[in-house]
Amino acid sequence: MNTPASGDAAVIHGPWHDAQAQLTEAVAHLKCAPGLHEMLAMPRRELQVAVPLRRDDGTTAVFSGYRVQHNFSRGPTKGGLRFSTAVDLDEVRALAMWMTWKCALVDVPYGGAKGGVAIEPRDHSAAELERVTRRYTSEILPVIGPDTDIPAPDIGTDENTMAWIMDTYSVAKGHTVPGVVTGKPIALGGSLGRAGATSRGVAHIAMMAMSSKGIEPEGATASVQGFGKVGRGAARLLAEAGVRVLAVSDVDGAIFDGDGLDITRLGAHVDRTGSVVGFDDTESIHPGSLLTLDVDVVVPAAVEGVITAQNAADIRARIVVEGANGPTTQEADAILTDRGVLVVPDILANAGGVIVSYFEWVQSNQAYQWREREVNDRLEEKMTDAWRDVVDYAGAHGLTYRQAATALAVRRVLEAHELRGLYP
Ligand code: GLU
Repeated sequence: MNTPASGDAAVIHGPWHDAQAQLTEAVAHLKCAPGLHEMLAMPRRELQVAVPLRRDDGTTAVFSGYRVQHNFSRGPTKGGLRFSTAVDLDEVRALAMWMTWKCALVDVPYGGAKGGVAIEPRDHSAAELERVTRRYTSEILPVIGPDTDIPAPDIGTDENTMAWIMDTYSVAKGHTVPGVVTGKPIALGGSLGRAGATSRGVAHIAMMAMSSKGIEPEGATASVQGFGKVGRGAARLLAEAGVRVLAVSDVDGAIFDGDGLDITRLGAHVDRTGSVVGFDDTESIHPGSLLTLDVDVVVPAAVEGVITAQNAADIRARIVVEGANGPTTQEADAILTDRGVLVVPDILANAGGVIVSYFEWVQSNQAYQWREREVNDRLEEKMTDAWRDVVDYAGAHGLTYRQAATALAVRRVLEAHELRGLYP
């Protein structure tokens, strides 16, 4: 284990800086003691590993891998595994801290963790990705487990990645352990409804946010950045509810249709070509301009740090629903708040994934499968409860939704910590 160097004064921008700034605001609001602030600012465990890969051509490449467990006061740690060249220790720390708040906010019995490997999955064959995943799993094996820390998919990873992690862990233990990961294939104990859970939650929250502003879905417009695990399903569900989705983007580019995109046909185009670009009768637009389109709702559902001090003043949407983790920087958040834009924070908006991960973990540990309807109903119930908690708390204390969500979550983590007491 490395010595955590969190709260690092040298970190002046980026997701870890933003996560620390949000925590600082929350502890100031809660008037919590400096020692408790320090405890929450510092991840409990950080593991950095080298992941050597035997490439298909026989050469060897080595990648940096991480697993950060931010806090375990409320239970085992939980959080996704990201394969992306943007992965570094500070990004993983921020994402782990956000998982702690997310799990506390939607009241699932977990602390937060995150993992990552600094690799571009598109540059590797399935066989190479399997070897990288298995070697990474074997390197972090001492710190994961169904009662310890439970990975799930995130950017660049999917149900196949989870199957390989589950198998590698199970081989090491000598028996099958389905509860070590969530987001598994259904045939291995994955939950019905897990694949679409984050999108379903984002769409559900977007509808509640629109309704709170008196915006009817029919006649409303939206743009969605990212057409992957989160954006694609969110765009489809919004369109099904009557919202005209005018623009979407992916890593290759952005497309626009003033009448609203046919998301079902777009999905088929993406399955065929691998990208949203070139979809029939749409206009290509600059990906950055998607965020500043004149729409009611903008859903950044790709990566962190896309709404910044540079473009926040140009956002024309009335509502930003954060499908991604950390898409709005702290500076941008303040600008949007001043301009009266409602920002629904990531830890609320995209919590559907970890909520159904929790349902999957419960099912895996009980070797039982719920019906999809039951999963979706329970998901919506949890999202609605969390939405109401945030709206009420923000109203009662004059906070933004992000400040309210973070404060509520921090308060729940501290409550668990205080009940357990400090050992020894
Ligand atoms: N990676 C997802 C997130 O950021 C899901 C995490 C999980 O299910 O554990 O919330």
